Amino acid sequence: SDLIVAVDGPAGSGKSSVSREAARRLGFAYLDTGAAYRALAWHCLDEGVDVEDAVAVAARVPGFDYAIGMSPDRYFVRVGGEDITPDIREPRVTAVVSAVARVPEVRAGLTELFRRLVAERPEPGVIVEGRDITTVVAPDAAVRVLLTATPEARMARRSAELGAKPTESMTQQLASRDAQDLKVVDFMNAAEGVTTLDSTELDFEQTVQALIDI
Ligand code: C5P
Repeated sequence: SDLIVAVDGPAGSGKSSVSREAARRLGFAYLDTGAAYRALAWHCLDEGVDVEDAVAVAARVPGFDYAIGMSPDRYFVRVGGEDITPDIREPRVTAVVSAVARVPEVRAGLTELFRRLVAERPEPGVIVEGRDITTVVAPDAAVRVLLTATPEARMARRSAELGAKPTESMTQQLASRDAQDLKVVDFMNAAEGVTTLDSTELDFEQTVQALIDI
């Protein structure tokens, strides 16, 4: 069978690690769409583009030379042939990614890219993860899931990832990124036909299992 699985959710919901592990176990490909928005934001910073200038940001879309590893075991992100896998997680990139992601030409260009990557995917299936996959990128996907968790649970996970206690400023940054992103896409409420998976009371293993069960 050939299957597209769409997974959306807020920052810190665990959707990246959960989707990747579920894909690994199912023998599916995995597409992290947030990585493309991050890579474009990184590229803008690298080129000295003012990220608040929507026209200047939009101008970077047509020639954007992007590559991503869609095998769960061989994940990489490249721009212009340069491996920037760790760089796209830097706080300076996270701080500006929402400004880049709200530019309509950016969303249109990356959506087209994601659809092409999904169409070219290897069998038997792919898990595509982001904010607008269930609603915009792949609304016809056979399986559509909204992965949620309370803000407290998401903050605790994010700080565990970073190996630090949650600080007031980290909590604020997470909330502010979600607030900015929510102006563009509603990833807090499940669209019609989308299954909500609340991971607040589940550990990683249980969440992976619940996604596979769906
Ligand atoms: O998932 P991640 O936190 O890496 O996403 C980074 C940013 O990319 C989000 O904060 C959002 O601004 C943008 N994004 C988006 N649509 C997606 C995936 C990510 O706008 N499908």
